[in-house]
Amino acid sequence: MPGTRDASTGISKRVGAVRESAILAIERQVRELTGAGHSIISFAAGEPDFATPAEVVEAAIHACSDFRMQHYTPAAGLPELREAIAAKTRRDTATDVTSDNVLVTSGTKQAVGRAFTTLLDPGDEVLVPSPYWVTFPEAIAFAGGVAVLVPADEARGFRVSLDHLERALSPRTKALLLVSPGNPTGAVYSEDHLREIGNWALERGLWVVSDEIYEQFVYGDAAFHSIAAVVPELAERTLRLNGVAKSYAMTGWRVGWLIAPKAQIAAASNLQSHDCGNISNVSQWAALAALGSGLGSVHRMRDAFARRREAILAGLERLPGFECLPPDGAFYVFPSVSGVMGRTLAGQRVESSEHLSRLLLDEVRVAVVPGEAFGAPGYLRFSYALADQDLEEGLARLQAFLT
Ligand code: PMP
Repeated sequence: MPGTRDASTGISKRVGAVRESAILAIERQVRELTGAGHSIISFAAGEPDFATPAEVVEAAIHACSDFRMQHYTPAAGLPELREAIAAKTRRDTATDVTSDNVLVTSGTKQAVGRAFTTLLDPGDEVLVPSPYWVTFPEAIAFAGGVAVLVPADEARGFRVSLDHLERALSPRTKALLLVSPGNPTGAVYSEDHLREIGNWALERGLWVVSDEIYEQFVYGDAAFHSIAAVVPELAERTLRLNGVAKSYAMTGWRVGWLIAPKAQIAAASNLQSHDCGNISNVSQWAALAALGSGLGSVHRMRDAFARRREAILAGLERLPGFECLPPDGAFYVFPSVSGVMGRTLAGQRVESSEHLSRLLLDEVRVAVVPGEAFGAPGYLRFSYALADQDLEEGLARLQAFLT
């Protein structure tokens, strides 16, 4: 939905300029069609189909009857959870993080907003590799900043080069955004590439916002690295975003976090003390149980995604006009569909990836997100975090429609 800016509504310019997330808009359509009795296969939502681990749910049930969980707690988060997040971050990225470096947020989405509102003054520029996840430009604009898109196209494995970063730099550049493994492309930056980019950012005095939410989902020989660990001097200028949504199948619990220098965390938690007080304690307690449960459930999910990744890549390869660079991480594939443009399908000449995605939903009830949502027309994003049988059924529908 476009921004709702209009003098007669009384809506502020700042809020009126915010557009609905294209992904949530498609999800809304999927729900409406499902409600009307249609059988929809959705590759749209970036959401694991697994249930939250039983021990996490159990911990939350107990938390409901704990007096402390029923009342306000510190704005920055439950001390136990902040400590557990710091310990987990030290374990996974070998960086020197204490609980003072942690702010618990309502999902990683809120950590994205907090990072940019804490960093940016009006007109400050953020280098955003494109294709980008839909929320980033909106969050940057809402914070008063300007997203400067830096091409990270398929020819470069959907990763930015120093050359392109350098060209996008201006005296107003304040920060660089990095998302690895990435959404929508699944691209993973190597340790060497991160070192190169990190040293470049350090030399130019930039801040880095590093979204690490897909850290557990890498396949084959690929490995996750945090830029804050690869270039330790940069840790003091890095804001890291993470959460339990993807790793522990906890999208609905809304717990994420921001890892940043103490001063940034103190400032962001002042803001949080006014705008939400604290994140739901029961959810925080559930997140604490998740982090305490180790990585067994995470690895089971990763193994399932690794299998589904193979299945979807094999299925897409059979579709005429689709070309897919095999991604190393997250749970998305981002095939080019330029080979389908100009074809006639269901009596219509296919004009764009957005048009194709509408045809797929209308004609074969398969939901995908068009590349236009991510600044990359000519592509479609498929999440393969859906059930195995749905994945097979969705691919079969596509195959029947396109061949
Ligand atoms: N960052 C990225 C890159 C994401 O893909 C998502 C979810 N799609 C988020 C942050 C937000 O996650 P959460 O559900 O924890 O708000």
